[in-house]
Amino acid sequence: MNKRKIPSIVVLTGAGISAESGIKTFRASDGLWEEHRIEDVASPEGFARDPETVHRFYNLRREHLLSSEIQPNAAHYALAELENALTKLEQDLPDKTLSNYTLVTQNIDDLHERSGSDLVSGNNLLHIHGELLKIRCSQSAQIFPCYEATSPLSVCSCCQQTGNLRPHVVWFGEMPLYMDKIYQALETCDLFMAIGTSGNVYPAAGFFEVAKSSGAHTVELNLEPSINGSKFDEQIYGTASEIVPDYVNTLLKEL
Ligand code: NAD
Repeated sequence: MNKRKIPSIVVLTGAGISAESGIKTFRASDGLWEEHRIEDVASPEGFARDPETVHRFYNLRREHLLSSEIQPNAAHYALAELENALTKLEQDLPDKTLSNYTLVTQNIDDLHERSGSDLVSGNNLLHIHGELLKIRCSQSAQIFPCYEATSPLSVCSCCQQTGNLRPHVVWFGEMPLYMDKIYQALETCDLFMAIGTSGNVYPAAGFFEVAKSSGAHTVELNLEPSINGSKFDEQIYGTASEIVPDYVNTLLKEL
């Protein structure tokens, strides 16, 4: 039996990891997301004011995500490889429920899933800001897969009403998902990696501090220094498709 300690790793990804896959980052242009004011398309108030525009905005994002030009890049694949390697090591441990790897993404795209992350455990990948390919009934909170365009006239399959369906996306002013599980992982991890995130959106922007105060080594991998970049133990700057595979290869050699 392998008694080696497997490092516990938490990875946080942001819009930057999907930039080279063709999905624009959030802050590519000031206060706008794909030419829309953020408060109009990413807040409960914006949705209440103009649900048709918000549905249309997410329909376009969904259609774009599902188009053949959008594919995972080398950074997504490298993280899937890291997870697979850790899973193989874990299989030698007596306690097989132990999870040593948590991938927290702020992204609502499905490029981590498509690159093969979370294939084995089915619960290592946490979309804290929701998922573009899901829709939710605002009355029952039931969540459904969604690959088609929706509108305020779409009929919800649980309550059979129109007007109750909304994107399964966490908007400004709403509570991010899976917070208990994430803090548990942060408090016990040995390594925390933040990839392609500007550090503007809390609580995700504060995760590195929780990990660091629990004794983890913290690494920022980004195109440029984020707001808190200098506070990480290690900084690596460049495009995600280059620096993430390089960093993962180094880790794999150490495992
Ligand atoms: P952000 O747009 O605020 O920051 C993106 C960061 O990525 C920047 O620091 C930028 O320098 C870096 N970056 C850009 N291109 C890169 C590359 N090729 N390689 C490495 N880094 C690169 O994004 P955020 O911090 O994730 O926060 C914004 C919010 O926007 C999130 O809550 C998310 O839900 C939402 N969002 C998601 C998507 C998506 O699902 N792909 C896209 C846009 C916005």
